Amino acid sequence: MTDLRARLAAAYDADSFRREGHRLVDTLADYLANMAKGPDLPVLPWAAPAVNVDRFAVSFPEHPTGDFAELVARVLSGSNHLHHPRYMGHQVTAPVPLAALCDAISSLLNNGMAVYEMGPVSTAMERNVLRWMAARLAMPESTDGVLTSGGSLGNLTALLAARQAKAGYDAWNGGAHAGPPLTLLVPRTAHYCLARATRVMGWGEGGVTPLEVDEHFRLRPDSLEEGLAAATRAGRKVIAVVASAGSTATGAFDPLEPVADFCERHDLWFHVDGAHGAAAVLSAPHRHQVRGIERADSVVWDAHKGLLMPALVTAVLFRDGSRSFQSFAQEASYLFHGDDEHPWSDVGLRTMECTKEMMALKLYTCLSVLGTRLFADAVTASYDQARRFAERLSSADDFELAVSPECNIVCFRHTPAHVPASEWDALQARLRERLVTRGDFYLVQTRLPRGTYLRVTLINPLTRDEDLDALMDALRTAARR
Ligand SMILES: *Cc1c(COP(=O)(O)O)cnc(C)c1O
Repeated sequence: MTDLRARLAAAYDADSFRREGHRLVDTLADYLANMAKGPDLPVLPWAAPAVNVDRFAVSFPEHPTGDFAELVARVLSGSNHLHHPRYMGHQVTAPVPLAALCDAISSLLNNGMAVYEMGPVSTAMERNVLRWMAARLAMPESTDGVLTSGGSLGNLTALLAARQAKAGYDAWNGGAHAGPPLTLLVPRTAHYCLARATRVMGWGEGGVTPLEVDEHFRLRPDSLEEGLAAATRAGRKVIAVVASAGSTATGAFDPLEPVADFCERHDLWFHVDGAHGAAAVLSAPHRHQVRGIERADSVVWDAHKGLLMPALVTAVLFRDGSRSFQSFAQEASYLFHGDDEHPWSDVGLRTMECTKEMMALKLYTCLSVLGTRLFADAVTASYDQARRFAERLSSADDFELAVSPECNIVCFRHTPAHVPASEWDALQARLRERLVTRGDFYLVQTRLPRGTYLRVTLINPLTRDEDLDALMDALRTAARR
């Protein structure tokens, strides 16, 4: 036992924590400085999955080895480098470094948040961050919600409340088959997590009724009546319409006003999946894209996409805040037990998570310390950069733009004259593979009705226009090989 005490004392020792911490911060700062140099480093040091599993194969030692620094070095060198100016792949941002320090605080304090007493500060911060977000969205005073682990879970959380509000029966207690089968009207371009959410709720295959989109990949308002009729013919009760504020593949913004009108007319729940694009509200030149979002019954907004935060920080906001208590309960249970005066303060009543990390801490702290202007300007800059890139692609005769970008997502393809059009799909996949495995750029690809397209999300504020010029050149060079 005395031996154990000594080992615990060493593991919890404040001075060795101080030493390792200082060293780690230096290492991470060097990493950032190195990334800023850019091009000569690989974005993703590509290795096949099995190779990496072998590389990190272990037999964990029984006693301390002290090689934290060595392990950190291996983690850094093998990872996908989101702060590399040529990272322009998925919708995951290069986090503002201050947020990483906040995560260290959160990990050390470990104030889980199921009930207020477990996390008094983070509960207060969460409430105030949500109020700030609701105000940016121009949602009413009655708005309230929670932070949760990602847009996928956020959408499910919102849709569970929608079901309690609109199904006309108690699906929470009676189950999914206690009344008529339900469905949502969802544009074909919506994120797959919506179909997943309906299956989780037990609605099966017809739980999503697809709505057609126009040539800009935006929901076609005339498809709403068609969708409602089709669902009714199929014996389904429609309870909600979901619109994307920033669709995943192309970043298209569905027209929200007509959806809001339609929902009012038919007494349906109006949910906006703004995981990617709700941040447009911060940008004066671009906020018109989400006009009507303030009329939504619920909105999902990922801070780890549009607000420079590391994963995961997702806001789920309900225009009638009391609805947020119905995602995971039939009644607003705070009315019957719990804290009537501060019903919001036990956050776990309204989240799938029981124990939850101090999610609000990094967002609250970064907004407080860095100021809101940085975040607003970063949205504007990334959307503007996407437009400039689109112009360069359009004016080149060997590139084709899939659609004018509405946010920071650009889909395009290389169409050189020396490759027959029938091979363009295969070419895009081959080009991407080459650039990614060489570590020159990190970008992704997507399948659109006209074929395979390359796709970049300009979500990394460190990407410069010259990196995008270099991307076009690298694609040309690779295609000639
Ligand atoms: C990214 C995204 C999601 C999923 O969010 P996660 O935070 O990755 O779970 C859902 N909807 C849209 C529109 C998205 O862009």
